[in-house]
Amino acid sequence: MTRFCKLFFTGTVFLLLMSFSAFPQDAATTAKIKYHTEKVKNYLDKNNALLPYYAINTDGISIYASAQNKLKNIPEFHLNWDQVAAFNVFLKTSNSATALEVYRSGKFVGTFSTSKNSPSTMVNQIFIPETKLLKGYKIAIDAGHTAGDMETGGIEQKCLKFNCDSLKGLKSPIAISEGMLTFATATLLKKKLEAEGAEVFMTRKFDGGSAFGVPFETWLKKKHIDSLFAAGVITSKQKNILLNPKTSKRDKFRFVFKDLELQKRAEIINNFHPDLTIIIHYNVDETNTGWTKPANKNFNMTFVGGAFMKNDLSSPEKRFEFLRLLVSEDLERSIALSSAMVKSFEKNLNVKTATYSDAKYLIQGCLSTNEIGVYCRNLQLTRYVHGPLVYGETLYQDNINECVLLNKECDKTKNERVQQVAESYFQGILNYTKEKMELR
Ligand SMILES: [Zn+2]
Repeated sequence: MTRFCKLFFTGTVFLLLMSFSAFPQDAATTAKIKYHTEKVKNYLDKNNALLPYYAINTDGISIYASAQNKLKNIPEFHLNWDQVAAFNVFLKTSNSATALEVYRSGKFVGTFSTSKNSPSTMVNQIFIPETKLLKGYKIAIDAGHTAGDMETGGIEQKCLKFNCDSLKGLKSPIAISEGMLTFATATLLKKKLEAEGAEVFMTRKFDGGSAFGVPFETWLKKKHIDSLFAAGVITSKQKNILLNPKTSKRDKFRFVFKDLELQKRAEIINNFHPDLTIIIHYNVDETNTGWTKPANKNFNMTFVGGAFMKNDLSSPEKRFEFLRLLVSEDLERSIALSSAMVKSFEKNLNVKTATYSDAKYLIQGCLSTNEIGVYCRNLQLTRYVHGPLVYGETLYQDNINECVLLNKECDKTKNERVQQVAESYFQGILNYTKEKMELR
């Protein structure tokens, strides 16, 4: 049995425990408490600092807005154990805004029949065997960043410019913008998935486009900003930053656009209700600061949700996502998907999988899972995107060999290395879905 199978069965056995009332109540409740408490410890609470915000006991799961509220026993939201299965069905079938509204109301009034619509049944309904391998799947692809050129790559600080370096053996200058690589990868992957019958949604529709449907430069125009303010999308403070001629485009991007755009990505992905979400990034060596010269490291890794830190439960929205990750199977499935993906990266790209000590941010900001190369990390997208996801970070763009390969071809869909990356995502998805079929 593979590690993924074990993980999947742990979750499934847990759901079965919840479904059969014949199971002795005390033992079943003890199992539920143990399962969820360990899940928080292993995946969700990076620095063991979240206890003031939740309680897991015989009554069920409670979430608190503050430590004081926990002391006074005033939960922000409470779920009884016998509501968990129905709550999971509700999460799968409702949109994010409705789910958040229910969370804000403080309690869940389950109206779903768990015998007919248990999460396992819902998931199995999606994976219908067909001649095409991915028929019936809805897959969202998020091509990381927005730049379609080097200038915007500079504004979002996601580009590399290397001069020739005789010492390192770099014969030609390098100019790579990560947003162009991710978009080309997404485009190639979309074609492959659609050829196998999947319905694919891309958060960015064209090279240089953003989740708002326009490039950053267009989004920045005064008329557009005025309409965003009128619609309540941005605050007056944000509007002033965006319209201030003294503020650099880089700061406008960094302090306003970036977070709003990531929020938009999560919103449109969740509205699509995908079975899987593939978030595509290319990595760099974090110790090669400035990224003005090539380096030698090269790794693949993947991220899933979790690893919340002390100040990461500061709003009802964030606490709701913490609860969702705790009670649903989103995290377990994301880990399984990411594990299949990182194995495919290593095999198809011939680049090693990063272990916990291979990057500082893995130690400082992540929790390891049982799967090599899969790390819990509380990124905006791993937190807000619902359902199984993989946040892929393939190879290091600033690696001396990779930068030469990635620099080839203006049209990055014609770049051989990018094509290999797209193929490795495709193979990873096929392997994950195949393992799921075998488990049925
Ligand atoms: Zn990136």
